[in-house]
Amino acid sequence: EMRKNFVANASHELKTPITIIKGFAETLHDNPGLDMEVVQGITSKIVRNCDRMDTLVRNLLRLADIENLPISQLSSCNFLDVLESCKQMLPPVYPDAIVEFIKENSGPYDIIADPDLLELAIKNLFENAAKYSKGPAKITVITKRLENNILIKVSDKGIGIPQEDIEHIFQKFYTVDKAHSRKLGGSGLGLSIVETIIHKHKGTITLESEVGVGSTFNIMLPV
Ligand code: ADP
Repeated sequence: EMRKNFVANASHELKTPITIIKGFAETLHDNPGLDMEVVQGITSKIVRNCDRMDTLVRNLLRLADIENLPISQLSSCNFLDVLESCKQMLPPVYPDAIVEFIKENSGPYDIIADPDLLELAIKNLFENAAKYSKGPAKITVITKRLENNILIKVSDKGIGIPQEDIEHIFQKFYTVDKAHSRKLGGSGLGLSIVETIIHKHKGTITLESEVGVGSTFNIMLPV
């Protein structure tokens, strides 16, 4: 059933931009005398939809790669370094976002992991926090070393997620507001990538959220 849903969703997500691109290409073909301004408007829509398909296919391939990741690629790394490099990656896209780190205890924060993948997961959470905040995002990351795990809480004061959506939020292609997500360039694969990465590390991820107040993603990773 999941496989069938996945194929149906993926096909639908790809079909929409293809239909748009085809429609605009036909308009250009059938109307050779169009004003330059109109042509530019149409071609930029074609490019935007190609970009959307490109992002979608890239995310699908990435998800498949992560699902097939061999365990031997994991090595020793420090989680605080991972957080720091995610913080550095945010300003070029979201210059106004503020990221604050709070260490609840001194660690150590060393884990066996694939640091590039963990970076991708945390970066996705930071970008979502920035994307789904009205005005400059305020992101707080609390880390705590427990006996056998590291606890990481990524919080924002953004638009929040309705209670009824929380249980579905990590499913592939799930979005709270499809039109809003599309406008921001998303297709509902980001959080499935995050969850797959955390599960690959034998960790867990949960979400607490309130509409208009903000969201907190709680991650537990074994040390
Ligand atoms: P998308 O590509 O649409 O951003 P994600 O899988 O990353 O897909 O997220 C799924 C949905 O969860 C989003 O469409 C959005 O509605 C919601 N969401 C994710 N993160 C946040 C957040 N920090 N605050 C509010 N809503 C969020």
